Amino acid sequence: MSNILDVQGLTTVFKTPDGDVKAVNDVSFAIKAGEALGVVGESGSGKSQTFLSIMGLLASNGRTTGSAKLKGQELVGLSTRELNKVRGLKMSMIFQDPMTSLNPYMRISKQLSEVLVQHKDMSEKEARAKALDMLDLVRIPEARKRFDMYPHEFSGGMRQRVMIAMALLCEPELLIADEPTTALDVTVQAQILDLLGDLKREMNTAIVMITHDLGVVAGICDHVQVMYAGRIIESAPVNNLFANPQHPYTAGLLASSPRLDVVNSDEKLTTIAGQPPNLQRLPAGCSFAPRCPHAFDRCRAELPLLRPTEDGTPADSHIKACHLEDNKGLAA
Ligand code: SF4
Ligand code: MG
Repeated sequence: MSNILDVQGLTTVFKTPDGDVKAVNDVSFAIKAGEALGVVGESGSGKSQTFLSIMGLLASNGRTTGSAKLKGQELVGLSTRELNKVRGLKMSMIFQDPMTSLNPYMRISKQLSEVLVQHKDMSEKEARAKALDMLDLVRIPEARKRFDMYPHEFSGGMRQRVMIAMALLCEPELLIADEPTTALDVTVQAQILDLLGDLKREMNTAIVMITHDLGVVAGICDHVQVMYAGRIIESAPVNNLFANPQHPYTAGLLASSPRLDVVNSDEKLTTIAGQPPNLQRLPAGCSFAPRCPHAFDRCRAELPLLRPTEDGTPADSHIKACHLEDNKGLAA
């Protein structure tokens, strides 16, 4: 299957009064149609900035180099005008807080149908019909009754469903969801994740799920990449990553997440000691070395590059950036 998104050597630098900050550092990966990719890491690891860079939604002091191709079309370096032809149509992004993206003074029906009138040249009537179908698809209860309401008349979970509906209106190839359920309570979270999983299957949309929550990843993702200090440090099929983490940071993340497969586990959760590094003063060698329980001399001198691990998966599907030998039994 061909790739929907192909990213090579993506790097984003922010100019600040205190010097340059490399928020995304030489990141490469690909996503296929219908695949769900989880992107995990602590805040500041570069997971959101990677996809804001791809969408061309960076703050004005940010500059991206490298390549990000959406179905062969280079996105890096496109003008805002050209990007507007891609955003919403071929790729969409949804964020944690739907209230920041919805217009509080416009009826839901109008906000949805306008997208179709503008991007798809539909008549008002066609657009309303399709918009209502989308609200049904994202399982807004009694959608017809609620269609002409305002955002504040919807619950938080329903507003997030509206955002998903809006993102999917033009049937994009790629949906990027940045912490889409973080602000919701646990039951609603589970419903939204279910919905995204179903949409992925039904519409064959590729999904990127940016999250700090490994439970979210386990629920719907096929593949996971873990980011630290702007770089991908491990990437693997989801089951592999959970069963056999090969990077000490991944193992630390797993050890600090509640186990999903053990009901009422009284296992103690650990946390990863220390703080993420200051991106303006990265240590030499491995960025994780100051926090890593396995660090040795080489780690403080030489940057570990991504390489295939030897855990029996096809050579390129489980990779890690760590000097440790493989299969050191890091599993949480
Ligand atoms: Fe730890 Fe060294 Fe691996 Fe970095 S390279 S994660 S410091 S063992
Ligand atoms: Mg973020």
